[in-house]
Amino acid sequence: MAAPEEEFFVLSDLSPGLTQKRVALAVVFGLLVLVFIAAGPLSGVQPRRIDAFVPAYTTAMFVNDSITAILLFAQFSILRSRAILIIASGYVFTALILIPWILAFPGVFVPGRGLIGGLQSTSWLYFSWHAGFSMFVIGYALVKGADPDRRLWRGTVGAAIFLSVALTTVLVLAAAYVCVAFEAMLPRVVLDSLRLSPSWPYVGAPVALVSIVALVLLWIRRRSMLDLWLMVVMFLYAIEIPLSYYPTPVRFSIDWYAVRIIGFFSSSLVLIVMLYEITTLYGRLLGAVRGRRQEREARMVTGEAVAATIAHEVKQPLSGMITSADAGLRFLNRPLPDLEEAEAAFKQIVAGGHRAAAVVDGIRTIFKTEGRKRASLDLNDLIRETLALMRGDLAKHRIRVEALMDERLPQVVGDRVQLQQVLVILMTNAMESMIAIDGSRVLCVASHMHDDGHVGVSVADTGTGIGPEDTDRIFNPLFTTKSDGMGMGLSICRSIVEAHDGRLWAAPNMPRGAIFHFSSTRSVSA
Ligand code: ADP
Repeated sequence: MAAPEEEFFVLSDLSPGLTQKRVALAVVFGLLVLVFIAAGPLSGVQPRRIDAFVPAYTTAMFVNDSITAILLFAQFSILRSRAILIIASGYVFTALILIPWILAFPGVFVPGRGLIGGLQSTSWLYFSWHAGFSMFVIGYALVKGADPDRRLWRGTVGAAIFLSVALTTVLVLAAAYVCVAFEAMLPRVVLDSLRLSPSWPYVGAPVALVSIVALVLLWIRRRSMLDLWLMVVMFLYAIEIPLSYYPTPVRFSIDWYAVRIIGFFSSSLVLIVMLYEITTLYGRLLGAVRGRRQEREARMVTGEAVAATIAHEVKQPLSGMITSADAGLRFLNRPLPDLEEAEAAFKQIVAGGHRAAAVVDGIRTIFKTEGRKRASLDLNDLIRETLALMRGDLAKHRIRVEALMDERLPQVVGDRVQLQQVLVILMTNAMESMIAIDGSRVLCVASHMHDDGHVGVSVADTGTGIGPEDTDRIFNPLFTTKSDGMGMGLSICRSIVEAHDGRLWAAPNMPRGAIFHFSSTRSVSA
């Protein structure tokens, strides 16, 4: 998925999945059912007037809206989207306008009337609240689709948030001032502290219409999860107005409580969804961070492995070159320099240099998946050549060599340098395991041609052998039991053999020691 990274982390940029849409529909449906129950079978019930309801309700709404605004501001600080800034301001607006609304609500602070304003103020503040928030949503919907120049805020985040809170506060103060000070000039929408007047719906209808316009705009430009849930909120806003008047235009009736519950839901929806999303995204982020750490560790292991491989593989020709150089010098330093022997030693140094270069090239090709140099070659020749290379070391450690070549062996196709490396590593390991113990030291290298066309090579020693617990581990990179070992040799051998469509494994030798076999997995035609 090639989405930009921040798309994973912000609600306003995530597109809603099918489940989200279904949940949104279920929420709407569930609330409608609640309303029908309130308006139908329960509408005759006149519940007790709970005086604590309004302050509790207002406080809860205030806290919800404030937290939603803070979370949206946090998203704005990441995205710098003006649209988010507008909708965050909308939530600041709904939180702040609750203050004059509760102050004006009859009977909350002073019996029978509001602390501020007259009888009409509460309803006018209610209309301002609903029309105002819907307008913020309209602003959000209009700005979010704008071209990038207009869509993004160029100033600092702090200035934007300060400006938004300040302007919204001014707006709320202005609305409160109009609703309270000019109450007498506004149409009468309530009859007394409990009953709404028949003219209430005439003001309510245009207010509901603003929410419907917002809903339609969101629908046209819908893209993100935030759009989806704001649509639900606008729908609830739109139905809240008629439900406040029909069927009972009386405060503290059963449907009045139902409408308040709807209002509370619509105020909490975006918050709930945001919290849910934040938790989900946090989980995803954690997963991504973990994945990246593992990747980095794996890369480090590979890096170490490459370094270890190079050191391991180059050491052998290098030490050969040093030995030859020492011998050459000794031949030259004799009172009568033996030029012939010195020349031979120099030739060996040159050959060793070429081998080291070839090994380095070979290592590079192990880590490359393409472009290996494959050619037809004779395995028996390769074994003989490798034994010749190792002759000096083998003789030094008094190791007897047995070479059992199957002369029926056909030519095989492979990378000569890489296959020679396998032999060198296996023989060096065999040698090292035999040096560790006393007793007869026999290195037996054999080639086989099986009747079914498979070819194989085995390298057997009479050394320490491999404990059953190590039989699998020895092929792991960096596994070693030697104080100066790298633990790379066998893993390289295995990857080379497997790259040649072959198999490499170890078995115990009789009466002691180990045998390493490698064979082709496909038959090799003669
Ligand atoms: P290194 O030789 O650097 O330890 P290798 O991958 O070549 O790395 O070998 C890993 C381990 O396998 C060795 O440390 C040794 O314990 C074991 N091993 C390899 N070859 C033999 C062998 N011929 N006999 C006994 N043990 C062996």
